[in-house]
Amino acid sequence: MADGTIHLPYFFGNITREEAEDFLKQGGRSEGLYLLRQSRNYLGGYALSVCHGRKFYHYTIERELSGTYAIAGGISHNSPAELVNYHAHENSGLGCLLKKPYNRPSGVQPKIGPFEDLKENLIREYVQQTWNLQGEALEQAIISQKPQLEKLIATTAHERMPWFHGTISRDISEQKLLQGAKANGTFLIRERDSNGSYALCLLHDRKVSHYRIDRDKTGKLSIPEGKKFDTLWQLVEHYSYKPDGLLRELTEPCPRSDHSGGMFQFRGRSELPTPPVENWSAGGIISRIKSYSFPKAGSKKQGLASRTNSVSTINPYVTRPKAGEKVSEALLHSLPMDTDVYRGIYEDPDELRTQTVKIKREQLMLADIELGSGNFGTVKKGIFKTAKSEKKVAVKILKNESSNSDVQDSREELLTEARVMQQLDNPYIVRMIGVCEAESWMLVMELAELGPLNKFLSKNREITDKNVTELVHQVSMGMKYLEEKNFVHRDLAARNVLLVTQHYAKISDFGLSKAIQSDENYYKAKSCGKWPIKWYAPECINYLKFSSKSDVWSFGVLMWEAFSYGQKPYRGMKGAEVTLMIEHGDRMECPAKCPPEVYELMKLCWTYKVDQRPNFTSVEFKLRSYYYDIAQ
Ligand code: ATP
Repeated sequence: MADGTIHLPYFFGNITREEAEDFLKQGGRSEGLYLLRQSRNYLGGYALSVCHGRKFYHYTIERELSGTYAIAGGISHNSPAELVNYHAHENSGLGCLLKKPYNRPSGVQPKIGPFEDLKENLIREYVQQTWNLQGEALEQAIISQKPQLEKLIATTAHERMPWFHGTISRDISEQKLLQGAKANGTFLIRERDSNGSYALCLLHDRKVSHYRIDRDKTGKLSIPEGKKFDTLWQLVEHYSYKPDGLLRELTEPCPRSDHSGGMFQFRGRSELPTPPVENWSAGGIISRIKSYSFPKAGSKKQGLASRTNSVSTINPYVTRPKAGEKVSEALLHSLPMDTDVYRGIYEDPDELRTQTVKIKREQLMLADIELGSGNFGTVKKGIFKTAKSEKKVAVKILKNESSNSDVQDSREELLTEARVMQQLDNPYIVRMIGVCEAESWMLVMELAELGPLNKFLSKNREITDKNVTELVHQVSMGMKYLEEKNFVHRDLAARNVLLVTQHYAKISDFGLSKAIQSDENYYKAKSCGKWPIKWYAPECINYLKFSSKSDVWSFGVLMWEAFSYGQKPYRGMKGAEVTLMIEHGDRMECPAKCPPEVYELMKLCWTYKVDQRPNFTSVEFKLRSYYYDIAQ
């Protein structure tokens, strides 16, 4: 559960309003006695049950698009607990002040809703089916996109329920319900039209009643004059509990003939039309899905080929957005798994990966679009042709140096970088595709269309801190992988995190990276080089020692850059001044738009002593928890 509410002693979880009233009665019904429970009709929402004048009042607390909470028409608060505190002092909107919480009696835990139990399995199956992912790629997708996936699942989970029969006709629904000796209260739901309206068909005394379920402008579902719900399964849960205007409550689902517990497929995201532009916010994705017109039943296209909103459908030669320009809609809305760089090119068994990963020149087409440059030469956009497909790529092209020894040196550096990259395979790391020796030496890599994180954020300052947290969390996932593989990056900085989309980051630039020998836990440099001192931990500068823990220090600086939207760290200071500042125990201040929880983590990454500094396993976990908290 988001926002730490689960830990509140007066939070009872998914109980009904009647159960809440019973608890408040047990508590003596005193004026202003209250408890908090999970909303049974609004996703991510809560309900506050209060005693006032010996009666019970129930207030819905909605989770707003911005992630804040409010009683309809009231002031927004950061968490339900904050809202409760506010109403303990301000009698605005409620009949009375909240005087005393009714805490859970000993042994009573917050009640888990039925969907909570199903959720984990549904998410797994959804990701497997929609993106055809297995193993590590599947796990990484779930970890990185859990809040988004939970919302997708919540709004499509009914497709997996035995009572959901798709677009069958009214007559067929009656036949199904009247067949055999079915009990009163047997029900099913059918889809009425492509605007997302349904019908609840209920058997009572050998007759079938059909209740229309309409979708309002905001996407909420309701039987005319009835309570509103975010999802069909919440509606079914409610009317199973009490009739609330129906002839009777729902009892048993009328089973679907094709329902075998796991075979009914989710509809692919591909079948949903391109969503309107909006933030990737909590309510955003829900209302997005609700606003889709669903396709006719029976069309169950799945898999990569059918994904129309994936980045792979974009013209390969669209240029990166310039300052002030907005990123394309597809790049705004796709999940990492929608892009063709989530899984490595060589995962397809038909695409043979040779030992040397040498690429033939005729497999490569270079475009006249420069993505970046450096001392080595330039990075250009290109197309890499394989037996089965054509892929957009980034190609690092070495310039042909004036002297032979310079040529040798830069080729050696390129090969070293290639050898490191060849050993890495993770969705949050730019993968190498191969090396091509032709008119110049070229390193062919996956393309990260939107370029370096620091530049992107400085041009797109409206990006939410939730979005920034999502991206830095992905970087921590890539770094955790690197730590497990015993590699040190040694140049981790926002400039070396490249964006595939606004919601998908990859670590790049392995020019300084080293494998740590199994008998050591650090790499010792022979001498100082042209180093990014402002990103380096004290032990790198003082003892030339590099480890994953020194990468953690750099990651702290990277987070600072990200949350200051691409500002340069230690602005106006020289490297030596920064070293002095660190030795004095001072650290950079919290960037203006940075949440305090993230700043605490930054400072933890800047722990002076290596053995007291957290590793990436711990940093990733902390960021993940924080991200889930703010994104749910
Ligand atoms: P640094 O100075 O950080 O060490 P570098 O000179 O080694 O960098 P890279 O960082 O590898 O060079 O690449 C230079 C620029 O090229 C990047 O900042 C980025 O804009 C672009 N670039 C590099 N790789 C890619 C890629 N895979 N996809 C898209 N753009 C890329």
